[in-house]
Amino acid sequence: GRCEKYELDHRKAPSHIPNLTIEREEKLLSYVKPVEEDFSKSKVIGIPRILQFYEWLPLFATFFQELGYKVILSPPTSKEIIKRGCELTPAEPCFPIKIAIGHLNALLDLGVKNIFLPQITDLPPEHPKLEVGKVCPYVQSVPWISPASFKFSELKVHLITPVLHLGRKGVVLNEEIKNLANLLGESVETAKKAWKLGEEAQRDFHNWLKQRGKEILENFKNQIILVIIGRPYNAFDPGANLGIHYKIRKLGLVGLPVDMLPLEEVKNVSFLEGMYWEYGQRFLLAAHIIKETPNLFPIYFTNFSCGPDSFIEHFFEDLLGEKPFIEIEVDEHSAEAGVVTRLEAFVDSIKNKVKYFEIYKPFEIIRAHPSDHRTVYIPYMCDHAVAFAAAFRACGVNAQVLPEPDEESLELGRKFTSGKECYPTILTTG
Ligand code: SF4
Repeated sequence: GRCEKYELDHRKAPSHIPNLTIEREEKLLSYVKPVEEDFSKSKVIGIPRILQFYEWLPLFATFFQELGYKVILSPPTSKEIIKRGCELTPAEPCFPIKIAIGHLNALLDLGVKNIFLPQITDLPPEHPKLEVGKVCPYVQSVPWISPASFKFSELKVHLITPVLHLGRKGVVLNEEIKNLANLLGESVETAKKAWKLGEEAQRDFHNWLKQRGKEILENFKNQIILVIIGRPYNAFDPGANLGIHYKIRKLGLVGLPVDMLPLEEVKNVSFLEGMYWEYGQRFLLAAHIIKETPNLFPIYFTNFSCGPDSFIEHFFEDLLGEKPFIEIEVDEHSAEAGVVTRLEAFVDSIKNKVKYFEIYKPFEIIRAHPSDHRTVYIPYMCDHAVAFAAAFRACGVNAQVLPEPDEESLELGRKFTSGKECYPTILTTG
């Protein structure tokens, strides 16, 4: 049968397929300098691995490090962090907000006394023709709702909660940097210098994403690429995304984070009129590129009770036209096994919708003859294969039975079948 129980654990991902979500995370974290275990005597700032930091960490980590701070991150998202987040959140927001509360709790457990938790109101737009991109109110509210979960003053923990309009250059942001300098007790000049270096780090991260995306689109242009459409904090947090990046890779496919697409190169952006959500802009630009590129297919990663997505998805689907997509909606109750089954079904359904190879080469039938001194390999489909091999040998043709199919055969077989074939065909092809 197709029970995945045994299949899941042993299937190996092909080594030539990159795991771009992990690469992305490693690059993101590379801007944070290592800190010695005992940081009690240092000037320390705690940053939770949540929400906007999954994208803007290079800016903030560099900013604080330039000001002489040691940056302490909360640990990677884990089951324990999720559990504590769910327990400590007084209301019922979406999953990422519960995770955020869990990370704040983890930072408190580490003994960090200064925590940076800005209200980021807007972000630079996804395309040069747009003005600004708005941030979800839930994300903006975390600095203000977290005191309902923690008694910061009793714990002697200081929250630094500036309002930042990262999407507004010039006067507005300048004033906010001044305000941040005051909150930190730094001179405005020093803070501005540190901010500038932070912006350079952020640009470096952005350029790296785009460059890596270009390489992947070029190197895998003849294969299906699954574009992971999601927010950095839900789709690219390996502890919160149900390991989707591993699962895609195990299917022998590339999972490309949406922010690696060349979104800024889309020529006509009239379809973005009225799309004020920053991530909405990102997703719709991606839908446009995916529609135009035959080998790209989207996985829309979202969370239950996500208000913005309940609207954005309609536009997304509309823009895709005939192109199919899979939606994966996650909360703290979601299980990994169901995702695998759905992903496999989706991949099977799209495989025959892409033209894999430019030139179709018909098979050349090679006939074996005793005088060729060739070896005939017989796939092991049942014990009778052994009898066939013996019969060949009796006729003077060297014949051998291949080993029994294993996980690798299945992996290879899936690569070269359309998904419509029966299971033995996939194994035999592998
Ligand atoms: S955009 Fe959606 S998932 Fe993100 S914080 Fe807002 S409601 Fe939650």
